[in-house]
Amino acid sequence: MRKPLVAGNWKMHGSRAMVAELLDALITDLSDGFDTSEIAVFPPSLYLSQVRDALTDSPVVWGVQNICSKDGLSGAYTGELSAGMAADFSCTYVLVGHSERRAMYGDTDSVVAAKFALIANQGLVPVLCVGETLKEREQNETSTVVSRQISAVLDSVDGSLLKNGYVIAYEPIWAIGTGVTATSQQAQEVHAEIRKLIEKHSSDMAARTRILYGGSVKASNAMDILGQSDVDGALVGGASLKAEEFLAISRAAG
Ligand code: PEP
Repeated sequence: MRKPLVAGNWKMHGSRAMVAELLDALITDLSDGFDTSEIAVFPPSLYLSQVRDALTDSPVVWGVQNICSKDGLSGAYTGELSAGMAADFSCTYVLVGHSERRAMYGDTDSVVAAKFALIANQGLVPVLCVGETLKEREQNETSTVVSRQISAVLDSVDGSLLKNGYVIAYEPIWAIGTGVTATSQQAQEVHAEIRKLIEKHSSDMAARTRILYGGSVKASNAMDILGQSDVDGALVGGASLKAEEFLAISRAAG
């Protein structure tokens, strides 16, 4: 049985005051012992210490949005932070391959594969983001693109690193931050294909890997998408910055 995961990608949003207020609202609401879905937040890394202090002993876990592709621990890489540093701050998850990083920061399939391995090597759980552009969908290339992005990682990673598993987030690029979501049928179709692809590597992994949907998920559409059999939660951008919205999505998943 896969426990749904609802993950909030805060991107480059926040301030110390906003982080305090948002986390306080989450913790207060969840104090009734809600545990039918797992909840994670991905703040900008500068706020990691604040997030860890606030969420330790709460049901909410945390992670970072990106790590350095060159070294898992330390080195002369100005401006970067390592997977080892994320582990040092008790992160559970690390996002890798988000479309914004692929499009704007040179995260090619091979860079994504390198980061994925470094994350897993630290005992952290990579959340591998994949998804097609609108043009690729219109040209019926969704399956090809998504399977290329996933295979680039799974074909190269040493299986012994995957003890803690991984999460896949299917995020059609045309649905990210646009207010347009994939229909529940479109999401289910791609998620089922992803599970079949994972099955080629390991049927056990296919059964236990959570495949999240991401792209303009909000309280009003969460139930529909999260009700699909191969949708195991959501990666949420904009709506994760509003406690009420994010909590409603988490409850829809559970
Ligand atoms: C994201 O960036 O991962 C995302 C899903 O954003 P939004 O929910 O704002 O579309």
